[in-house]
Amino acid sequence: MRVLKFGGTSLADKDAIERVLSIIKSRVKNGQVIIVISALNGVTDQLYKLTRLKSLNDPQHRILLNALKNRHFKLIDGLLKSFERSKVTEQIESTFRELERALAIKANSQRDFKKKQDYIAGFGERLSAPIITACLRSVEINALYTDTRSLIKTDSSFGSAAILENLTNKNIKNYFLENSSSVIVATGFVSSTIDGTPTTLGRGGSDYTASIIGAAVGAKAIEIWTDVDGLMTADPKKVEAASLISRVSYETAKNMSLFGAKVIYPPTIEPAMRFKIPIYIKNTFKPGSPGTIIENSSNFHLRKQYCISAAQNISFLSIQSEEINRIEKEILDKIFLNDKLGITFFSHTKTNTELKFSFSSRDQYLTISNIEKVIDSDLSGIINNHTLLHNLSMITVLHENLSALFHNKITNYCSTISKNKMQALIYDKKSKSLSIFVNEEHEIPILNTMHDLFSSIDERKKIPLNEKLYDYSISN
Ligand code: ADP
Ligand code: ASP
Ligand code: MG
Repeated sequence: MRVLKFGGTSLADKDAIERVLSIIKSRVKNGQVIIVISALNGVTDQLYKLTRLKSLNDPQHRILLNALKNRHFKLIDGLLKSFERSKVTEQIESTFRELERALAIKANSQRDFKKKQDYIAGFGERLSAPIITACLRSVEINALYTDTRSLIKTDSSFGSAAILENLTNKNIKNYFLENSSSVIVATGFVSSTIDGTPTTLGRGGSDYTASIIGAAVGAKAIEIWTDVDGLMTADPKKVEAASLISRVSYETAKNMSLFGAKVIYPPTIEPAMRFKIPIYIKNTFKPGSPGTIIENSSNFHLRKQYCISAAQNISFLSIQSEEINRIEKEILDKIFLNDKLGITFFSHTKTNTELKFSFSSRDQYLTISNIEKVIDSDLSGIINNHTLLHNLSMITVLHENLSALFHNKITNYCSTISKNKMQALIYDKKSKSLSIFVNEEHEIPILNTMHDLFSSIDERKKIPLNEKLYDYSISN
């Protein structure tokens, strides 16, 4: 059995959806398949916006809601005829009625608002997946719509809930024992707590849904269908010279996605890796092209793989002190391990006299003010100096062998970036990553130069390094 996940980028309009349907049809002959469906392109963002507008009593929310309705009903009209059309129309009308009721819920606290936001964010998948199911049924494919909120159970960390693994696996296994339809069409991204309160798996979470289901049913493969050729050496929408990584280990792919390669959502790797299920990343618009395979590194000879990623809204903290171990403990306990701040760590390095952290957080301003408080009160007197920066772009080079050679060349390059462009740098041996922190407007040129530098080293393209550095410093 295989699990195929189609992202919003594969579900932008009628033509894209017809491509998706033909990919699914071509697989049905080989036995039962599980399809995980995201919201139509852009819909989740619009649902977040809708929640905000409605809570501010902004009349614009009506316009947005109507646009969402029109988009879904127009799609149904374009894709379906007769019986399946009227059946799914009824279902979608009822889901929109539920959405209106959800929007009217009063949220009296921050937590209630997050809970409501999660409930509303999940409607995108609950609107798109029934449409795909109806399209398959209309061509006599025995497809079954599955709302994964009843299968994937989580805690109540709204916005990015943690799954309750045993219960979730048991639910999924039982569901598949009871249902033998040739195609199971499952909603991505959505989940719920034990008492049935809707939650979500975090932005980009449909990839994770596919991996959770794949691991529970012991799938042969998980396929992530998207709008690019696979996992690439950089985001091809930002770096024209990016090239395909055709094979990569679970560990490297996980690091690449953690540092910003959003083509795969980081938690996706874990369940697949545990059961050694290969993950393929494929292009919906070029189904014949080979794509990327993410698998156990013992299955292939490791090349010197690299990836240059960029992530936005990143914060950076460095602290100099003679009592670095004590400071590290205080900062970790009071800030970074504080669940309420919802911090994602990227790098954490330590020397005898300096600590450096890069991170993002659900509430950047709350995190920053907490850090300032800890530094000014609890740690005052033992810190020599500190730097705290936020709203940065983090450009990270990951390399399987990020050796001193590469480190030196890149730091040489970094030294040519003028002070006002590069705010900070972290070289983290553990994750084999080197990150430089810049203001957002410098992200694309620096990303491209870093990519050129690495591809020239990796492919021995004989681009003299100094020339490249010279070009960059002249043009900037
Ligand atoms: P989907 O809707 O299919 O889930 P996403 O937008 O989540 O799509 O992910 C696909 C996007 O990831 C691509 O369009 C590409 O711009 C971006 N991306 C970022 N880094 C990389 C990378 N290293 N390789 C491939 N794509 C990348
Ligand atoms: N629709 C959700 C999002 O936009 C989940 C996903 O696309 O993977 O984040
Ligand atoms: Mg995605």
